[in-house]
Amino acid sequence: MPRYEYRCRSCGDTFELNRPMARSADPATCPAGHDDTVKLLSTVAVGGSASAPRAQGPGGGGGCCGGGCCG
Ligand SMILES: [Zn+2]
Repeated sequence: MPRYEYRCRSCGDTFELNRPMARSADPATCPAGHDDTVKLLSTVAVGGSASAPRAQGPGGGGGCCGGGCCG
């Protein structure tokens, strides 16, 4: 069951609820009993590393053999 995060606009508290996806848009009541809440965007699947540029060549490394000193 997905978890949704909500924020209460009355007391500013944030809380999480586990509820079916079909009910994600239903009103949520904060732990203090306020019903003026908004659903926050899920943080799931946010982030991850951007593809870093790889060093050229499978052998990698070494400044020696490309500079002419080895051959
Ligand atoms: Zn509240």
